[in-house]
Amino acid sequence: MINLQHKGLSIEGVQGHNRQVILKALHDLGTCSRKDISIVSGLDQATVTRAIGPLLEDGVVEEVGLVKGGRGRRSINLNFSETGRHILCLRLQRRSFSISVFNLRGESVVLEEFAIPKGQPATDTFNDITQAMELRIADFTQMDGIGIAVPGPFLESDERVILITESPEWQGFDLISALRSQFTELAFYSTHDAKAAALTEWRHSARKSGSKVLLYISAGQGIGSALVIGGEVYRGSRGLAGEIGHMSIDIGGALCKCGNTGCLELYASRIALLRAVRERATKRLPKEATFTDVVDAYTDNDPIAKEEVNKVACYLAQGITNCINFANPDLIVIGDEYVRFGESFLNVIKSQVEKALLPSVYRSITIELSALTEDTVLKGAFLDVFAQTYLGATRDTQERTTIDAIRKEGEIR
Ligand SMILES: [Zn+2]
Repeated sequence: MINLQHKGLSIEGVQGHNRQVILKALHDLGTCSRKDISIVSGLDQATVTRAIGPLLEDGVVEEVGLVKGGRGRRSINLNFSETGRHILCLRLQRRSFSISVFNLRGESVVLEEFAIPKGQPATDTFNDITQAMELRIADFTQMDGIGIAVPGPFLESDERVILITESPEWQGFDLISALRSQFTELAFYSTHDAKAAALTEWRHSARKSGSKVLLYISAGQGIGSALVIGGEVYRGSRGLAGEIGHMSIDIGGALCKCGNTGCLELYASRIALLRAVRERATKRLPKEATFTDVVDAYTDNDPIAKEEVNKVACYLAQGITNCINFANPDLIVIGDEYVRFGESFLNVIKSQVEKALLPSVYRSITIELSALTEDTVLKGAFLDVFAQTYLGATRDTQERTTIDAIRKEGEIR
């Protein structure tokens, strides 16, 4: 057993620490034996067995089947409970919201998406959200917590969405606080969508490839990013780190709601892309063309779709180059809706980035599209709640400022 008592930790403290170490090992290993956990955690097998007891009783962990061990011995494997406990996650986007319920293994057992009609008042959308959440919560006997992922800029320390470009109806609406007051009996955690997705990408690819610094770019309805350093999401002093969407790529460019000019999001978001395509309406891509229409036309080599999507790729490449020069990542994963444009889109980004960097810097970086088919934001929201509920992760929070104070600071325009 790890001896922490000399550091002033109580017996309960030691037991709590051991429990977290064991759950972390199980979270990383998946189905495994008590012996596997003992090897990975560094705790002796008796300690592991003792600590697992209450976790089995509480339905956090369950025994799964008999497996043959060495020398013909049979042992019982363990995993997190498949059906006993759940975590509900909500993802808010500009034009939709989705809800997923996960079991403690991180498997999504429910996934629903709801459209948000353009211009619908925030109070109506809030009612739609709470109604959908209540229905789902009622379906499960044990809900351990709720995770919500929102677009940025999001002051994580204050749990406050400052600005959702193209969605003025959310300005000044204290969404997280309002949700909290609706679901007072449940633990509630909020996070920025790109940070959530980055966590999922790190768990699935960077951890396996041995990447030290992952830069995740989320490109779709909004443009966001997040840095994961050694498995930890870098949050910044108030949780605002990674706001690549509001990094300028043109000092003389259009004025953004954030106050800056030429923000990347104004040129590279799905909304900007659709606007550009619709302005040049053709028979193939008429004024009411959807994002899927643009993806199909691009895949079919439609000249206008090619030109406009390639422009977006160049804008993104500029933003990515700026990030590389600043943060020196070794792996860059581009995720969200733009993954649908595929390898040719990625190749335009790569060739632009290559032109803008020193050869030795470019060679040290892998740039790829997300290969995950699940919703990485919802999964990341789950991982965030899970880590805070079971693995002892903590998040710095400051005293929340009032909405009036934020307005006075000029953050709400
Ligand atoms: Zn901006």
